[in-house]
Amino acid sequence: MSSYALLLAVLVAVLAGLMLGKAWERYNLRGNTLIDRRRARQSPHYILGLNFLVANQIDLAIEELTRAASLDEDALEVHIILGNLYREKGQAGKAITVHQSLLQRSRLSRIEHAYVLLCLGLDYKRGGFVDRALEAFNEVLRLDPKNEYALVNLQKLHEEQHQWTEAYDTRQRLTKLAAIESQPQSQSILAFLENEIGLEAVRRGEYAEAIRRFESAIDLDPRAVPAYLNLGDVRVTQDNDKEAGRVWERMLAAAPDRAYLAFGRIETLAQRTGEPERFLALCQRLIEENPQDWRARLALSQRLMADGQHQDALALLFAALVHNPHALIIHQAIWEALGRLGHPPALVERYTELTENAVFYLDPHVCIRCRYRSTELLWQCPHCHDWNTFVEERIAPAQEPVLAES
Ligand SMILES: [Zn+2]
Repeated sequence: MSSYALLLAVLVAVLAGLMLGKAWERYNLRGNTLIDRRRARQSPHYILGLNFLVANQIDLAIEELTRAASLDEDALEVHIILGNLYREKGQAGKAITVHQSLLQRSRLSRIEHAYVLLCLGLDYKRGGFVDRALEAFNEVLRLDPKNEYALVNLQKLHEEQHQWTEAYDTRQRLTKLAAIESQPQSQSILAFLENEIGLEAVRRGEYAEAIRRFESAIDLDPRAVPAYLNLGDVRVTQDNDKEAGRVWERMLAAAPDRAYLAFGRIETLAQRTGEPERFLALCQRLIEENPQDWRARLALSQRLMADGQHQDALALLFAALVHNPHALIIHQAIWEALGRLGHPPALVERYTELTENAVFYLDPHVCIRCRYRSTELLWQCPHCHDWNTFVEERIAPAQEPVLAES
């Protein structure tokens, strides 16, 4: 983990601890059992510990907070934070011991119990004890049905286990709790989970169920691209080329920026149904609608190359290059076209001009959450496990687009 991520995690842990402290005070006041629990928090060790935390000096923070905790065994939140710090340091076993011992306390309120269990669940998750983590999060939800942290972690655990139906149900509970402004994002996650459930149905050969799931994913989020791709594939498997074509057309209309993901499928379909010109027309249409669409130009050029029209293909590739000078895949296509044409000096020179300031990227896709990089567009980030967070990173074109058409 990077030091920034660690600091962030620690701060979150501290905030959770402080919030818990407040909740604890409130509950104790309500129950008329106010104990003088300020001793730990008024000690210089507590403040020093927090300062070390902010400065990302975890070991010193643990040292000071341990001293603060020893002044007052009842200071629940200090002990919780300590456990969380052990977990963040990777000492899951130690964290589990700390949090488990807190659960033995007899005077825990329901909400305190839930918080400690939540931390324990995170410890188990960190230590790789999946079943115990699942159990802990479910227990938190029994005590506190609206606990969003528990729901999020439960969803992620189910996803990791590929238990898509359970992940979907958990996400649905979260969606109901989520604020209105975060609803579209939540719908989109539900759509991806629905798509996964559909894929499982495909693997079992249950095509009707799969179709129902993919359609439902598209209803949840009209931009759920993988659901269209998979739905079309099922139609192809059912020998229904016409319907497959219709599905992919729907996808192009809903998410033209992702059209290229269907290029291979649409081209194969066009060839098989004896209408190869349909694919060429599609590429031309996409270029007209969005002159920056370098992928449609690349696809079209590959078609032209296959037909022996190397010069026209190269012109398209030069135009594509102007819009994305850093894509290695375009350069490779250009090298091939230049080779087929016997490296005419004028064209080679044109190419050299266009590439003057280019940096080649093999992995242009980047996760906007955690900056994980990938060659392919991924729907779920393998690093932070978030859904639909990849964007294509592009550096400003090396030249004005107008020059490309010359
Ligand atoms: Zn990520």
